[in-house]
Amino acid sequence: MLIYDLHCHSHCSDGTLAPADVVARAVEQGVDVLALTDHDTTEGLQEAHNAAQNQPIRLINGIEFSSRWGRHGVHIVGLNLDLSCDELKQAETQQRQARLDRAEQIAERLAHKCNFQNTLAGAREFAGGECVGRPHFAQYLLEQGHVKTINEAFKKYLGSGKVGDVKQLWPEMGDVVDWITASGGVAVLAHPDKYKMTRTKLRALMGDFADLGGQSVELVSGLQVSGVAENLQKLAEPLGLLASCGSDFHRPGQHWQELGGFNPLPAGARPVWELFE
Ligand code: MN
Ligand code: MN
Ligand code: MN
Repeated sequence: MLIYDLHCHSHCSDGTLAPADVVARAVEQGVDVLALTDHDTTEGLQEAHNAAQNQPIRLINGIEFSSRWGRHGVHIVGLNLDLSCDELKQAETQQRQARLDRAEQIAERLAHKCNFQNTLAGAREFAGGECVGRPHFAQYLLEQGHVKTINEAFKKYLGSGKVGDVKQLWPEMGDVVDWITASGGVAVLAHPDKYKMTRTKLRALMGDFADLGGQSVELVSGLQVSGVAENLQKLAEPLGLLASCGSDFHRPGQHWQELGGFNPLPAGARPVWELFE
């Protein structure tokens, strides 16, 4: 049986490995089909394809979009995308801009309310090309001696309810599903178990997701407590949602999110790859 890992990250988003190294590691781990799904960007796919060329692995074009459903943040994976689609490029630009706007707002607030200057430029240094987020601001505040630890930076300035706690306004889940569909891809609801929703809430989320054109749910996301996949299957199957699986790999050393390191789909589940094979 082939091993499909349809969710992982490289340093093009918040992973640590280069796309080529993610592919090499996936090969080592025995993965047969891999989707690289960086947050809101497909930038790493060209390098990943080059790396996969003479290797016993097949690479699927993927992405993981941030979106909102009501007051909840939910992640939607797009699989088997056509990278030449304008809709996809526009979507990536919009998400990048949303992150940028937020970083600017955080910097403005830190300047006006705490008199910390140049934090955006400083945070950007720590981000090293990736999108600037609160951890980068924390590193800069630490470097400047405004705080003694990263923890203190969050406690005083960046954490929940503090000056730098600017909420990111993500697009509606339906818009994200539309982007993926318009780009020839399949929309997959990522790691439903991580949203800490009640079963009733999860059922409503999956129902809406299916109504909006979503086609699949990650029944398996990394190492899970036994029974989780089967429970999700009971919610997803009646809605006609197909099953997906992935590690959500970000970096070596996290055995619960290792490439290919998860249990097979539960018995009877119809896999999402039926749609692109
Ligand atoms: Mn991540
Ligand atoms: Mn996610
Ligand atoms: Mn992820």
